[in-house]
Amino acid sequence: TDTSTRELLLSRIRDVADYPKPGVVFKDITPLLADPKAFTALTDALAELCAKHGATKIVGLEARGFILAAPVAVRAGVGFIPVRKAGKLPGATLSQAYELEYGSAEIEVHAEDLDQDDRVLVIDDVLATGGTAEASLELVRRAGAEVVGVAVLMELGFLGGRARLEPALRGAPLEAL
Ligand code: AMP
Repeated sequence: TDTSTRELLLSRIRDVADYPKPGVVFKDITPLLADPKAFTALTDALAELCAKHGATKIVGLEARGFILAAPVAVRAGVGFIPVRKAGKLPGATLSQAYELEYGSAEIEVHAEDLDQDDRVLVIDDVLATGGTAEASLELVRRAGAEVVGVAVLMELGFLGGRARLEPALRGAPLEAL
C-alpha cells in the first residue's frame, strides 16, 4: 500500500483504551468500515494481494475478519470460506483448539470447503499474539489446502505475533497493510 492509503487507513482506526479490559488498547475499525473511500481502498489492497499470490479461496476469521474478507472475495472472484468459533457451523467440521492468554479457544471450518487444489489467503483485521491465525493455518492445512499467505489490516508488533506465526507460515508471507 502506498503512503496515502496507509495514512487514510490509519486515520480511520480508533484506539479505545482499556477495552475490553484494563490495559488493552482496542483497535476499533468501525470508522474505517463507515467510510466508503477507506473501506474500498482496504478491499482493493487485499484483493491485490489475493491476485499476487494466486489465491483460489479467501478464509476469513470470525468475526471482523468476515467483514474484511467477504468483499475481497467478491472483488477477486474467489470463494469466501468462514472460519468460525466452535459450534457455529452446521456441517461436518475440522476443529482446532489453541491457547489464549487465559484459557483456550477453538475454531472450526467446514471440511468440504477446502481441498488439495486450493490456494488459501487468510484474512483478519488484527494480528495480536498470532494464536488465532496460527490455529487457522493448521485448519487450512488439515483440510488439505495450501496456505499462500496471511493478510491483516494491522499487526500489533509488540505482542510478537509475527514470531509466533513464523513456523506455521512455512515460508508463506504475512502481510500487514
Ligand atoms: P490473537 O489470536 O491474539 O492474534 O488475536 C487476534 C484476534 O483478536 C483477532 O481476530 C482480532 O480481531 C482480535 N484482537 C486482539 N487484540 C486486539 C486489539 N487490541 N484490538 C482489536 N482486536 C484485537
